[in-house]
Amino acid sequence: MKLVILGAPGAGKGTQAVNLAEKLQVPHISTGDIFRSNIKGGTTLGKLAKEYIDKGALVPDEVTIGIVKDRLQQDDCKKGFILDGFPRTIAQAECLDNILAEMDTALDCVLDLAVNDEVITKRLSGRRVCPECNASYHVDYMEETQKGICLVCGTKLVQREDDREETVINRLKTYHNQTEPLIGYYKAKGKLVVAEGKIRIEDTKTEVYKVLGLEK
Ligand code: AMP
Repeated sequence: MKLVILGAPGAGKGTQAVNLAEKLQVPHISTGDIFRSNIKGGTTLGKLAKEYIDKGALVPDEVTIGIVKDRLQQDDCKKGFILDGFPRTIAQAECLDNILAEMDTALDCVLDLAVNDEVITKRLSGRRVCPECNASYHVDYMEETQKGICLVCGTKLVQREDDREETVINRLKTYHNQTEPLIGYYKAKGKLVVAEGKIRIEDTKTEVYKVLGLEK
């Protein structure tokens, strides 16, 4: 399946994308993860991306589109992919259509994970992530015994710099101004399905499987 997951920051795109990629046996492509690993590696791309990410703004389209184009042209994407965090602007969506058309293919479906701003703000301020394996947790749902340690790889969890409150406010503004119009864009193309994001990850997953017509 060739799928895009849309949704505000903190809607749970990453968590659902990891699960779907495993279920469907296709690569999970997260532009946010690509930028973060470049920031960690101190690359030129990382330095450039950090300037925008720290402000809650979008990395310029010409940079982001090139990265995604290269990734989609790799062999493992032939059988499908889950795009998480891309596209985020109409210009990116139009380029994605063109990239796929050049490859003689097209998106099967676009999944919008709908969650309101109040829930998002709470989620992001309590989110803690593993800097090693990218696993994501919430302070309210972490086991007492876990003590801020990643259950997958044992690394100490951290707060993403862009999950701090001032940046979250800007990220939400950016989402509403630049990314939300994509819902109408894909609806008009008949590609959109909507799943309501729930408090529990498992409940969101049930909803996602239902709208995508997948067996649990
Ligand atoms: P995410 O992990 O998807 O929330 O992305 C973190 C940050 O990376 C975003 O707030 C943006 O600054 C940047 N970013 C990720 N994907 C894109 C994209 N498709 N276009 C522009 N900037 C992006």
